[in-house]
Amino acid sequence: MRENEIYVLSSNPEIKETLRSMIINTLDAVLSSIDSDRCYSGIDPNDLRRIINSIEVLPENGIGFDKTLKRVEEDVLPHLLSTWSTSYMPHLHSPALLEAIASELIIAIFNDSLDSWDQGPAATEIELIVIKKLCELFGYGEDSDGVFTSGGSGSNLSAVIQARDKFCNEQLNWDVKKKGLPAEYKKLRIYTSSISHFSFDKASHIIGLGYDNVVHLPVNEKCQIDTLKAAEIIKNDYEDGYLPFLIVATIGTTDFGSIDNVKELKQIADKYNMYLHCDAAYGSGAIMSSYSSRLGELSLADSITIDFHKMFLLPISCSCLIVKNKKTLECFELHADYLNREEDEEDGYVNLVGKAIQTTRRADALKVLIAFMTRGRDGYRSMIDRVIENAQYFYNKIKDDPLFITGPKPELSSVVFAINKGDELNKRIRRALMSKGTIIGQTVWKEKVMLKFTLLNPALTHEKIDELVKAIKEYK
Ligand SMILES: *Cc1c(COP(=O)(O)O)cnc(C)c1O
Repeated sequence: MRENEIYVLSSNPEIKETLRSMIINTLDAVLSSIDSDRCYSGIDPNDLRRIINSIEVLPENGIGFDKTLKRVEEDVLPHLLSTWSTSYMPHLHSPALLEAIASELIIAIFNDSLDSWDQGPAATEIELIVIKKLCELFGYGEDSDGVFTSGGSGSNLSAVIQARDKFCNEQLNWDVKKKGLPAEYKKLRIYTSSISHFSFDKASHIIGLGYDNVVHLPVNEKCQIDTLKAAEIIKNDYEDGYLPFLIVATIGTTDFGSIDNVKELKQIADKYNMYLHCDAAYGSGAIMSSYSSRLGELSLADSITIDFHKMFLLPISCSCLIVKNKKTLECFELHADYLNREEDEEDGYVNLVGKAIQTTRRADALKVLIAFMTRGRDGYRSMIDRVIENAQYFYNKIKDDPLFITGPKPELSSVVFAINKGDELNKRIRRALMSKGTIIGQTVWKEKVMLKFTLLNPALTHEKIDELVKAIKEYK
């Protein structure tokens, strides 16, 4: 068989061998491109653009896989970001566990989809058992359920839609699913921290309420929602005729890893029949750690966003939303004759499309299963304890040094800090480190440019942290 006659996998031994050698060659190319601990080649954006632009995207005649791989090896692999590097710490962007990388191969080869049972029989059943375990882990009872999504933003959007539909159904006796927004829609309001993730503003736009109906609540010194002020703001809005329908507690803010008080926010939510959502995209991983009590009582919330591509160290993308009462997910249910016939479901063929915004959906739950089985509670605990303890170590090292300004004491694995010599120097430090292959974060806190270590890599050592502190101090 000629190379260009082999299209897709089959039981033919020759074809299986072809795939095997393509995968092995790809892996060899990847592994031989990794020869240092830097996270980036350091090339500047214009030079990189020139190299990438020289690639012919769609030649008239295909050049075959070997030549294509060679070109990728020369021009692409050296400049990809090495997320496993302990020199990479700007974002909530984690390295991937080895077994989870291997599991991607299974997901890609079978290419199952989670819309209907006949598109992914075992994949569907796996999503169901993984969701069940997650609900148990976060303290939800029998009525709970959940669904894998495209990412934390997708999970949050899904929660916002459920909150709106539930509120309109129960409080305004209005079926949004059928009739669209109610006449008084401009009064519907979402309440979230002033430092929450911007996916709530986006979600508010997407569902037709707009940015102005997202109220950003003030935070205290620890970067948590000030619940006394929140109660006051919501009460005033309510008395002014607004319809507060959703409070979001952020469990691990993107910048600081700060954790809102779920119990106090739940009391406010109950008073006005509001939906309470926990955005634990970042903090959810800490459920596995010895520090899980820092997260608070997440099971009080109506839903929880969990990102596996952050603290759980799985490849992108992998996220889910779990809900306390499976009824709220019904807002995504819709039957089509070509996909998810009602009679199938009566006979036990579960079609997960009825819980999701997406239709075609990857079997991401499989990599959660494989990583959970491989590591167990104990393996995860030690990895996540280590990243939380590393943040503590770094914070303790600089907090009393007059050269540094430090942000709030870390609850999770992020430390926000700056050199006490003005914004410009701090910006320069980040750029200078980047050109040497170390990438750290930058944000703003109390109107100052701040630097940030977002520590997700359990392989980071105290010695490496010491070296980085020394390097940063040299720029003063
Ligand atoms: C990362 C993050 C998100 C968005 O998740 P994606 O997976 O990037 O879409 C939402 N909320 C918080 C708090 C986050 O840190």
